[in-house]
Amino acid sequence: MKLFFTKKKWSEYRESLTGPLGFVPTMGALHAGHLKLVHEARNNNDFVAVSIFVNPKQFNNTEDLINYPNTLEQDILVLSQAGVDAVFLPSSSEVYPENDTFITVVPGKSAEGLEGAFRPGHFEGVVNVVDRLFEWIHPHNAYFGQKDLQQCLVIQEFASEKHPNLKIVTVPTEREKNGLAMSSRNLRLSEEGRNRAAVIFEVISKMKDSTADYDWAIEYLKQYEIETEYLTNIEISLNTDTGLMTKAWVFAGYLEGIRLIDNVLYN
Ligand code: AMP
Repeated sequence: MKLFFTKKKWSEYRESLTGPLGFVPTMGALHAGHLKLVHEARNNNDFVAVSIFVNPKQFNNTEDLINYPNTLEQDILVLSQAGVDAVFLPSSSEVYPENDTFITVVPGKSAEGLEGAFRPGHFEGVVNVVDRLFEWIHPHNAYFGQKDLQQCLVIQEFASEKHPNLKIVTVPTEREKNGLAMSSRNLRLSEEGRNRAAVIFEVISKMKDSTADYDWAIEYLKQYEIETEYLTNIEISLNTDTGLMTKAWVFAGYLEGIRLIDNVLYN
């Protein structure tokens, strides 16, 4: 497995590749959810590239950025074991050179509300870094996790205009045995917190089959010390391996000061 730290070295390598390239952008602190995207990419492309870059521009909360977990050595080990061909590890100055106008893309309508409302500037940061990565990596297929549902919708929307030949593949959420959606931020929860957080998936799975109002759910989550930021159902249009999904229950909230999100998709 090759490691690249600069666009220049990467582009020399990129020119040498002849078959389909699958790309998985990440911020590191890799877990089985990230590896699910990598396996999907490995099974459907001749070459697989993963990027690890903790993008400061998508953090609306400085503390979250400072505390973002870093497990780089372990990440590189697991990626090489997963059969990845190349890892792109740019520095911040490589991604955002001085005097560079940061904004090249404006997120579309799907960035409104939910994460877009509670994390001002987040999707602007996401689409602009992903746009740069797409330009440099130049993949045929790019893989995103359905755990970050609104991110999938925002990327789908901007890529269909700006990168029409690139296929965006969304991959189902990988969960702990107790149902908790895997997330790098889970590393910051206590063991008890990780057990309690399982109730989020339990609740949103029930919402799917209920027409009752959801005040009970917010109260129930409170009993587990989970403060809900939003819990709502939305209309979507998301291509998945099991077909087009048209609805979702989406959740965001806090436990032990850590922000957690999750969702269930249905038709
Ligand atoms: P991140 O490193 O958090 O930016 O995530 C990189 C990619 O992995 C994003 O496309 C995420 O949606 C995806 N991802 C994160 N957690 C999971 C999960 N539990 N299951 C599937 N994909 C995930």
